[in-house]
Amino acid sequence: MSLLEDVTHLQEEALGQISKAESLESLNQLRVTYLGRKGSLTAILKGLKDLPEEDRKRAGTAANMCRLALEEEIKTAQQKLSAPAECSVFDPTLPGTANYVGVAHITTQSIREMCRIFYGMGFEIARGPDVETDHYNFEGLNFPPDHPARDMQDTLFVEHGRLLRTHTTPVQVRELEKRKPPIKIITPGKCFRKEAVSSRAHVAFHQVDGFLIDDGVTMADLKGALVAFCKAFFGEGLKIKFRPSFFPFTEPSAEVDIECFLCSGAGCTVCKNSGWLEILGCGMIDPNVLEMSGHDSERYTGYAFGIGVERLAMLKYKINDIRLFYNNDIRFLRQFK
Ligand SMILES: [Zn+2]
Repeated sequence: MSLLEDVTHLQEEALGQISKAESLESLNQLRVTYLGRKGSLTAILKGLKDLPEEDRKRAGTAANMCRLALEEEIKTAQQKLSAPAECSVFDPTLPGTANYVGVAHITTQSIREMCRIFYGMGFEIARGPDVETDHYNFEGLNFPPDHPARDMQDTLFVEHGRLLRTHTTPVQVRELEKRKPPIKIITPGKCFRKEAVSSRAHVAFHQVDGFLIDDGVTMADLKGALVAFCKAFFGEGLKIKFRPSFFPFTEPSAEVDIECFLCSGAGCTVCKNSGWLEILGCGMIDPNVLEMSGHDSERYTGYAFGIGVERLAMLKYKINDIRLFYNNDIRFLRQFK
């Protein structure tokens, strides 16, 4: 066996012994055995002088490397053994403990994003109370007491005939009563309906409603604003369609669908095989609504739209259950940084 092989063999054996050492005494003993004046490595080094020059150089380098490796290993083992038992040695190679920084709830983030887009289009932001009167929630929006459309709204009533607003459109009536056109406003906020809670419906949810009233506002203005919003929120290349619908406070009324994200229009269970997903309702403000709040419907026209915040966030982030927004499961919330 050559000296070089002796060194390799000795290094392996010594490292194995050091890793198994259980006390500082045994470590010290190992140091003497391998690195001491009469130790094994020292003996090898003494044999170097008998070798031809070429071999001497190589074996000498290997022996020095071996010495350094053993000294380093003994030092590390000493530190481990001399640390108090209850206090583990700091190991910089272990993965760190992540500190999560709190962020706004996904609903708040979505509302802010929607407001930011509409703000960029010149809309002001207005807010109103969660507890409303029949006048602002229904009557002022052209729902007569016996109007069948009231059946569409399953309302939660509180004392004194007041109710939890079923949409944020009442803010439209409040603003119409105190201002003169041009009025260009969005109304973000919470809404409540007496719904059976399911993956697609909840008793509490959020809306961003908007409306514009001025001279000569047309359906083309409405389409332009909503298409621009959808592209800003969902991205360019989005397919959008307007479909006739009915709401008591708009005439004509429409609903806006976007192409299903999951099947790209081919049809799937989420879009009920239609290839389209409904995202909002809109229309031209009914002249009755303008007249009731004291505006000349011959002179002014306007459009209005109502967007479900959770619904939009569900489509954008592919969230399959609206209840996740309210469960406060930290694993869900942390996905939206
Ligand atoms: Zn689909």
